[in-house]
Amino acid sequence: PSIPDLLRADGVAVSFEFFPPKDDAGEAALWDAIRMLERMRPAFVSVTYGAGGTTQDRTVRVTERIARDTTLTPLAHLTCVGASRTALRHVVGQYAAAGIRNVLALRGDPPGDARGTWVPHPEGLDHADALVRMLRSLGDFTVGVAAFPDVHPESGDLDEDVETLVRKADAGATFAVTQMVFDADTYLRLRDRVAARRDLPITPGLMPVTNVRQIARMSYLMGTPLPPRIVERLDAVADDPTAVAAVGVEIATELGERMIAEGAPGLHFITMNRSTATLEVHANLGLGPATERPVA
Ligand code: FAD
Repeated sequence: PSIPDLLRADGVAVSFEFFPPKDDAGEAALWDAIRMLERMRPAFVSVTYGAGGTTQDRTVRVTERIARDTTLTPLAHLTCVGASRTALRHVVGQYAAAGIRNVLALRGDPPGDARGTWVPHPEGLDHADALVRMLRSLGDFTVGVAAFPDVHPESGDLDEDVETLVRKADAGATFAVTQMVFDADTYLRLRDRVAARRDLPITPGLMPVTNVRQIARMSYLMGTPLPPRIVERLDAVADDPTAVAAVGVEIATELGERMIAEGAPGLHFITMNRSTATLEVHANLGLGPATERPVA
């Protein structure tokens, strides 16, 4: 079944996100995490696409290896940043040659962080909807897109983000994954607004926080502040790494419970290439005893 079909099916379609490792040690940690999480039989796993040439090559390599050496269904992220249309077609060709059929079509951020000014490549694409169209024109790809429950920092308001998702659906996207969510209500608001317009399953991103400085930096780079009550709970234990991880798991579990109760089609875990916290949340949510399930 395709990713959108899995998201439309009964139950919760769990998925895991990884990033391309920087060195051999990072690569080993990533593969440990992939092997542990593979046992959970996720609907798909995704690998983010970096801003520079070498990390982009690594994204392609890791995604190809997941397709080749595991039982998992890979979702390859792809961004328009710094790439001509020709360069984008080349990467799409590499994915296709590796049998990768699912792509998350993204615009990407200006070099630096989300606070800079977006300038498209002179021979490139300006927005994700154009990349969706390109992918659909190049082959039989299932294309997903990004969604922003807390409103994309460049958008004026939620209405604009809803219009953007409608445009991306009309361009051929058949599912969406959100930025990490720390307030279930913002996710539900966006989901319901889009559901009234298009049949586009939107799966919420969930990140079990394990490191206060890391999440503060990520939220700064994304241009989306964390809700004060989340910051307070993490700050209260900030000096104790074990307690931070426990609170992070607790927060992600509460959010996951609410999302499931409200009928979210899936949960997309941002794993930071580690399995422990994600497995704890997965178990807390009763998403299956999958640890015992044999891997083919
Ligand atoms: P777009 O859909 O193009 O939207 C960007 C802005 O332009 C929004 O304000 C939107 O409202 C507006 N807009 C969109 N289309 C149009 C149009 N046709 N005309 C006018 N305005 C328009 N970044 C990476 O670099 N690598 C990754 O792997 C990566 N993975 C991600 C995964 C997820 C699930 C999410 C949520 C984000 C990810 N990002 C990644 C970050 C993402 O690239 C940035 O948030 C980026 O700023 C927006 O990307 P987008 O695809 O939503 O862009």
